[in-house]
Amino acid sequence: MTTSTPTPAADAMFEVRRLNKSFDQQQWVLDDIDLKLLRGKTTVILGPSGSGKSTLLRCLNLLEEVDSGAIWFDGREITKEGPRGHLLRREISMVFQHYELFPHLSVLENLMIAPVKVLGVAREQALEQAMELLTKVRIREKADAYPEQLSGGQQQRVAIARALMMNPKAILFDEPTSALDPEMVKEVLDVMVELAGSGITCVVVTHELGFARRAADRVVLMEGGRIVEESAKEHFFSGQASERTQRFLQQMS
Ligand code: ADP
Ligand code: MG
Repeated sequence: MTTSTPTPAADAMFEVRRLNKSFDQQQWVLDDIDLKLLRGKTTVILGPSGSGKSTLLRCLNLLEEVDSGAIWFDGREITKEGPRGHLLRREISMVFQHYELFPHLSVLENLMIAPVKVLGVAREQALEQAMELLTKVRIREKADAYPEQLSGGQQQRVAIARALMMNPKAILFDEPTSALDPEMVKEVLDVMVELAGSGITCVVVTHELGFARRAADRVVLMEGGRIVEESAKEHFFSGQASERTQRFLQQMS
């Protein structure tokens, strides 16, 4: 008799089951993670430095190999996809702490290069979409500028627009405002709040509790490679959350 793997919940864009990951075979960086990330919702992942947040994000789009466990994305088990896994990164975009724009390309070319070269989108169509997205992130007037001519906050907004050019099903943010001067954090978070409300699935690792309060649907707290709390934002910040969560929130404020 064969036993079939249970299919993922229909409301989950990502479903992580019993995920384990180590780099040195001595200590689990991700220790038996079970997690459901809901379709069209924004999940904020909080936790101290070294708790495994970046590693978890990188596992979600197969930038890291997992030791055991399974990850489902949009109804399929991606941890089984092997070499075809790289196609996944057309469906999942990632925004990093350092914007990683191509320095020798203009803002517009930074946005257009992947859709045109990878997806084969016509230049005209890519141009139209790029201008729309640059308007959305409020930087249309810099379309012909080069990255070095932009502030950090402007570059990060361009990076967000570039991530959206692939029409991803999900977008992963890894501390997108941590490298920014304080006065630029707000302009990036404002764009992210709008994005969070737009119906795309967002997963955001951040230390910005204000963003979590404004934009999150669900909040996850990680510590030592484990999930210590996963709850609706209202519960997470209600004072009814676990004692560990309350302590974390006190340390952060
Ligand atoms: P966070 O993003 O929460 O700060 P990380 O996922 O970056 O945490 O790291 C979790 C743990 O895994 C840390 O102890 C870190 O040193 C370790 N780690 C992360 N990446 C690697 C790597 N490529 N090689 C070895 N250890 C790593
Ligand atoms: Mg990190």
